[in-house]
Parts: sequence; structure tokens; C-alpha cells
Amino acid sequence: MGGHLSAQELDAQDGLRNFRNEFHLPVASATGADLLGSSGVDEPITYLVGNSLGLLSKRSQQLINEELSVWATRAVEGHFNHPKHREWLSITDKLRPTLAELVGAYENEVACMGTLTANLHLLMNSFYKPSKERYKIICEAKAFPSDQYAIKSQIASHGFNPVEALIEISPRQREHILHEADILAGIEEHGDTTAVVLFPAVQYYTGQWFPMEKITRIAKAKGCIVGFDLAHGIGNVPMKLHDWGVDFAVWCSYKYLNSGPGGIGGLFVHSKWETDYPPKYHGWWGHDPKTRFKMPPDFVGVPGAAGFQQSNPSGLLAAALLGSLQLFAEAGGITALRAKSIRLTGYLESLLVQSKHFVPSERISLNNEERKKTGFTIITPQNSDERGAQLSLLWPSGEGMMQRVFTGMRSRGVLGDERNPDVIRFSPVPLYNSFADCERAARVLEEVLDLAEAPFK
Ligand SMILES: *Cc1c(COP(=O)(O)O)cnc(C)c1O
Repeated sequence: MGGHLSAQELDAQDGLRNFRNEFHLPVASATGADLLGSSGVDEPITYLVGNSLGLLSKRSQQLINEELSVWATRAVEGHFNHPKHREWLSITDKLRPTLAELVGAYENEVACMGTLTANLHLLMNSFYKPSKERYKIICEAKAFPSDQYAIKSQIASHGFNPVEALIEISPRQREHILHEADILAGIEEHGDTTAVVLFPAVQYYTGQWFPMEKITRIAKAKGCIVGFDLAHGIGNVPMKLHDWGVDFAVWCSYKYLNSGPGGIGGLFVHSKWETDYPPKYHGWWGHDPKTRFKMPPDFVGVPGAAGFQQSNPSGLLAAALLGSLQLFAEAGGITALRAKSIRLTGYLESLLVQSKHFVPSERISLNNEERKKTGFTIITPQNSDERGAQLSLLWPSGEGMMQRVFTGMRSRGVLGDERNPDVIRFSPVPLYNSFADCERAARVLEEVLDLAEAPFK
């Protein structure tokens, strides 16, 4: 990628480059980077962790400040009477059009609410209806722990045994990413006894973007309910949940959507299920807004995904997300961002594979002893259709290498993130990362590895 062009030239050609200026870049003192000593100023670091916590946009900061000011000057009146017309009563309505676009849904199919794991339980409460004949849940073996806890506790709460009812699709021996054929074969094999197939859009550890449409098609043909966890997918890769016929999905917004720590989450419920899978546990925010404040004793649900809302949402968190989503829209939406993302991740990959410490992917199944002598490999799929904005570098086990490399890079002002047991993730985010960021990360990685003692000789 990029051919002979330098990072500076690639940045100069990038029509989205100015969006970087819309964000606060973390500074050297935050990570104890040595940059501080050389220049005397608190320089921005190279931040490649947008898959974990997206950066604060100046727009979000401004909107939060405005909400604070409305709270200060109008207090409870802000719910109904807001100088910026973001009445807290209905502020999430302002977010739903962009959220719907990001996941490929109709507006009434999405709700901006809650947090990911809680939303997952909420939707499982409606969609996981196990019977003696059909009770299993199919997921991937390396699912994010919170999802595993949620799934297992859902199974147990219905009186089934997770050991038997949870079907986990595993990578092949010594491999890290799942073969599409193995996922589809697992669904074929267990589909008739499976109630729900639940997959992430993008796997948090490997960065693998699963074939969502195919998984949905095969699982639906088997009569299963299909849900997706979009934690690492929303704002990262384009989706068409409605057209694909996905039944439900949940997400958080503090990763690629930059809503801030613990930001407001969301969920998707396909419109075909309005009557068959209504919300099971009600709250006043799922009640018809026309009569909500008449405080009637009986629940009348809002049609669509909004009926799953329980509590009144945080105006501050909604404003934080709104600022970032405005930038998504101004940048041309997920289509424009994805086009840059493919180039950006491809560029970082092209630099990393030139490292003398890189082990080519054909040798990915090398045993640990052999990798120790040579360095890192990249376990994220090479095909851009099978990954988002992330490369996961795998280090030899048991050598403390991953930790040493991570710390070495961090002290030089390049922040990736460490994921136990053996991976460092780099996530170049098209909204605020540059080609120069990628170039610097690859350069600093090489520096750290060249300096490292054995086994890197
Ligand atoms: C980030 C992430 C979560 C986090 O869950 P919260 O409920 O927001 O704390 C859950 N699942 C996956 C797959 C994630 O990547």
C-alpha cells in the first residue's frame, strides 16, 4: 500500500486529514514518554488505541460544556426547554439517524441506551427462548469475557448446563483466526438444536471481521436467532443489519464512536420482530412518550427498538456521543471513513512486514520456540475484507516480550495496547490517525526491537 509514497505525501493526499484537528491528542506526560525531555513541551503521542477508548473530540467537549451550562442555568427545565434544542427528554432522537446509518438499519430499529453487557442481557431476555429441542447458543471460543459471562449466565438462568449448551467455534490448532468454513460447519452441525447464534462483528483480540452476512444466512436457514456484538464493529466497518436479516445487535460507543469512558451504548432489533419479541422487562422510558408523564400504571410500549429503553438517558453522555457522530457525518459517513481505514491499516501492515523481526504469515503455525528467535507475527487477517482498523501483533509466549515491547514503545510515545496473553494491538483510526502515525509506530517498534536483548538477535 502506498507504493513509493512517503507518509507525508499520503497524508497530504488524504481528504480527511483535517479531522485530526477536531480531536484532542493525548500528550507525552500522560504516558511518561521521553519526548518531554527532548523538546521541553508536552508533545502529542502517537495514539493507536482507538479500538479501546476513542479520543475526545473538541465538538464533544463543546457539547458537554453546553449541557453543563444548561444544567447550571436551567436545571430541570433543560429536559423540556433547551437553548440548543437538545431537550434531554428527547436528546437520543438526535443520535438515532447516524447510529442507524452506521449499522445499516431503519431509525426505529435502533435505540441509544444503556451499556453493552446490560443491553445484551436485555435482548437475550427477549430473544433467547430455549426449549428442550432447541436450547444451544453458538459463539466463538475466544469471545470477550463479558460476553462469555453473559451467555453462560443466560443459559444457566434457563436451567440448562453451559458445558453442554454452549457451542464454541475454535480456531484450528496453532491458528488464531476462525475459518469461515469452520463457523458455517459448526452452525450446520448444531443449528437444529440451537436457539441463538451470537458473534462479534469484529473480534477484539485478532481484529478478524467475521462474515456477518453469511453467518446470518446460514443460521437463519437453520431456524436460529442471530445476534451480533458490535463493540469493535460499529464506526469501524460498514454493516447492513436490516438487509442481512440480523435479528438483534448491541454495542458500546466509547471505542470507535469516541463517546468517552463508559459512554452510552445502543441496540438494534429488526423490525420484523416488533410483535414476536417484545421487551420482556419494562421501564418508563420504553413507554409511549405521549403518556409517559401522565404516569399511567400500565405499560404501553413504544413500537420498535425504543421500547427496550428502561431509564432516562444521560444528557451528558448523549451529548458526548452526538459531538463525535456529527464528525462522522461531516467526514462522509462510514463509507468515506472505511475507504481511508483500508488504506491506513494496509499502510501500517506494509511497514510492519518489512521489519527484520517479522515472521511471515505462512509460518504463522510455527511453534513458539521458533518464533522466539525471530520476533512477531501478525494474526489479523491479511485480506482487508476480513478485518477492520486493527493489526494484532503476536509475541512469543512466556518471555515477557510482549510486555517489554509495549513498555518500550509507550516510553517513546507510541501507544498501542497489550492484550493478554501475547498480543499488542494497533488500531489506526481513520477519523484522527495519520499515515505519519503509522510510519512512526513502525519506526519506533523497530527501534525497540533492535535495542532489545535476546531473543531478538
Ligand atoms: C468492549 C467490549 C465489551 C465491554 O462491555 P461493557 O458492557 O461496555 O463494559 C463487551 N464485549 C466486547 C466484545 C467488547 O469488545
